[in-house]
Amino acid sequence: MKNYIKYYIQMLSSSKFIRKGKCLRCGACCRNILLYIEDEPIKTQEQFESVKEWDKHYCSFYISGRSETGALLFTCREIGDDNLCKVYHFRGLGCRNYPKVNSKFLINGGKPLDGCGYYFEADKPFKCYLKNS
Ligand code: SF4
Ligand code: SF4
Repeated sequence: MKNYIKYYIQMLSSSKFIRKGKCLRCGACCRNILLYIEDEPIKTQEQFESVKEWDKHYCSFYISGRSETGALLFTCREIGDDNLCKVYHFRGLGCRNYPKVNSKFLINGGKPLDGCGYYFEADKPFKCYLKNS
């Protein structure tokens, strides 16, 4: 429950950025991705079991590798060979919102996955924020 509240507060308070572009159906966001627990990438099987208890949508994922930083990488069982989601109409909120990121992530240099057709732009030029401060 705490994580749901935190998620919605983040959704409401985030983003002075606008998402642009479109999905190119590359399937990259469903394969070898990071999953998070309390804002940190999942690194252990125990953490993964814990998030699966919290949200059953995580049960669709299996561990498919490990990143250079030690975080586990996950792939979804529902991605087809054609890169289309087999449960498109029933996919979870995280999938529906992808790529939905908070301002902090973008300000720190974060961006959608390589090859993703989406990108983010500030809603106003930087100097407009300076004028209002
Ligand atoms: S990474 Fe971007 S372009 Fe590729 S499937 Fe996901 S949303 Fe679409
Ligand atoms: S449920 Fe569908 S959209 Fe979500 S990660 Fe799996 S294949 Fe991708």
